[in-house]
Amino acid sequence: MAVPKISGQTSLKLGASVMNSRVVGRLLNAIPRTHRPCGMILMWGLFPIFVLFTPEGFAKRSEKPTHCNTCTVQMKSGRGVWVRNPKRAFGRKATIDLFLAAVETVRTTFSGTPDLMVGDISFQHGGRMRPHRSHRDGRDIDAGFYFRNGRARRYFAKPRGRSLDLARTWTLFNALIATGQVEFIFVSYRIQRALHRYAQKQGVSKRKLRRFFQWPRHWRRRVGIIRWERGHDDHFHVRFRPKVKEASRRELLKGE
Ligand SMILES: [Zn+2]
Repeated sequence: MAVPKISGQTSLKLGASVMNSRVVGRLLNAIPRTHRPCGMILMWGLFPIFVLFTPEGFAKRSEKPTHCNTCTVQMKSGRGVWVRNPKRAFGRKATIDLFLAAVETVRTTFSGTPDLMVGDISFQHGGRMRPHRSHRDGRDIDAGFYFRNGRARRYFAKPRGRSLDLARTWTLFNALIATGQVEFIFVSYRIQRALHRYAQKQGVSKRKLRRFFQWPRHWRRRVGIIRWERGHDDHFHVRFRPKVKEASRRELLKGE
C-alpha cells in the first residue's frame, strides 16, 4: 500500500495547526466561560489522536513486522543445505538453528551426504507468503528429500519407486522430532508408509512409531507428528512450535 510520507515533525505541526485554527477558537468561544477549562482539557486530550492518525502513523502500523528484525535470521546455502531463494529463507533463529543441527546429524551419520534443498521459510519481516497459507512467522520450512543416487537437487522432485533415500530422510526426520520442538512434519501418505516401514525394520518401538506417524491410520485423521497435508509429495514441510525452549536448543547445539 502506498502511503504518503509525512515526517513526525510535520504531523506534529499539522496537529498544532488544527489546535490553533479558528475553528477550534470558535468552538472554545462557544463554551461558557466557566466550562472553558473542561473544554481545553478535552481539546488537548484529543491532540495526541490528531498526531497519531496522520498517514505516517498508519504507515508505521501497517508495516509493523510480525516478528522483530533481530529475531529473524536468513538461512544461507552451505552447512549441508542449498537455499533456493534467500529472500524467502528468513526464519526465527531457533528454527534455523534446530533445522541445521538436524541436517548436521545426517551429515555426521552418513558420509558423502548431498546438500538438502531448502525452499520457502518466511520473508524477513514475516507476513503473507504466496502461495502458502502458513510460512508467515518464521517457523515453517519447506525442504526436499535425500535421494538414493546421492545427487543434490535444485528443484523439488517427487520420489519414484525406490529413489527416496530412506536412511538419510528417516535420520533427518528423527533428528528433527528429537529436538522436541517440532509440531508437525507434513508429507505425503505414500512417503509416510515407506518411512514407517523403514523405521520398523530399524527396530523403532511401536509406541514411538504411533507417536511419530499418522500412517497407517487414515490420512484425514489428525494424529501423529508426521502427517498428511495436501501438496507434500515432492517436499516436506516442518513446523516448529511457536515457542522454542532455549534449553533444548542449547542442548542440541552442544555437539556442534
Ligand atoms: Zn510449506
